[in-house]
Amino acid sequence: MKTEILKILRENSGYVSGQELCRRLGVSRTAIWKTMQQIKADGYEVEAVPNKGYRFVREPEDLLNESEIKSRIALEEIGCQVYFKEEVDSTNTWAKKLAEEGAPSGTLVCADAQTRGKGRRGRSWESPRGSSLYMSLILKPDILPLHASTLTLVMGLSVAEAIREKTGLDAGIKWPNDVVVSGKKLCGILTEMSAQMDYVEYVIIGVGINVNRKEFPKELSDMATSVELELGHKISRADLAAKVMEHFEKNYQIFLKTGDMSVLRSDYDKVLVNRNRQVKVTSPGGHCEGMALGINDKGELLVECSDHEIREVYAGEVSVRGLYGYV
Ligand code: ATP
Repeated sequence: MKTEILKILRENSGYVSGQELCRRLGVSRTAIWKTMQQIKADGYEVEAVPNKGYRFVREPEDLLNESEIKSRIALEEIGCQVYFKEEVDSTNTWAKKLAEEGAPSGTLVCADAQTRGKGRRGRSWESPRGSSLYMSLILKPDILPLHASTLTLVMGLSVAEAIREKTGLDAGIKWPNDVVVSGKKLCGILTEMSAQMDYVEYVIIGVGINVNRKEFPKELSDMATSVELELGHKISRADLAAKVMEHFEKNYQIFLKTGDMSVLRSDYDKVLVNRNRQVKVTSPGGHCEGMALGINDKGELLVECSDHEIREVYAGEVSVRGLYGYV
């Protein structure tokens, strides 16, 4: 009910009467009053005027919980269920457990801190409390397992679009899975999957975004940034999470029509920071240097090497770096 009341009050800049809330939610005045006390305890300033009703005066600056996120999402599939915890080991691990227990496609989990945030290839994602977004989305798409890793690119594009829209920052993508601003990493994405030979059981897309934090440990400070560092002020994490999901649903529906990046490719290439830059591609089998041209329909990075041959680089085991730095 908290979610519904937050939604209704946010939609209305004026007063909403207690009677109207009772009617829309099908509950008693006492129930509304009790929930209103909880909302106030969360830090909302709510004005209650007799014969007029309730009105938001001010929302807390950056409150993150289930109703904060849920009340901002009104999508078809994505965010159909939202779960929140103060702390988890890894949101991807939590999401996997829920997916196996039957959570529907579109379920979103989010935590305020991770004790063992995961990166690709066994790396870790540094996840302190109270400042960033750590969320994982469960999807059960009807696609071939070999197409599932492309969802990393779909999420990367969605995060970049959401950051651009919400903050005006020039967010770009370092292929395949990092969202960067000013040449530094703002967001990492980790896609994991459970599949049979020709059937995807579920896909988990984990997203870590550095939002309201001003400091990083020494080993990350040269390569990591946050929304607050770039923008100079804090933003609402719940708002940003909802915006990312909004863009993701739109892009995901486009992706599902073809199972590849053919339609999204031009949007992706527009924000691809590696494009027309010299890159070094490192994989267990060796490395190559060349000019990154953009992606193909499969989401592979096209790199023109010094012998003018164009290589199609598959994301799997690969790391891409600029010749003179991280991007
Ligand atoms: P590469 O750029 O080498 O391909 P990656 O994309 O495989 O790296 P991820 O799995 O996305 O890397 O993220 C893990 C890496 O990101 C860590 O090894 C660390 O260097 C860096 N990192 C960890 N936590 C953060 C953070 N909060 N913000 C920015 N960077 C981080």
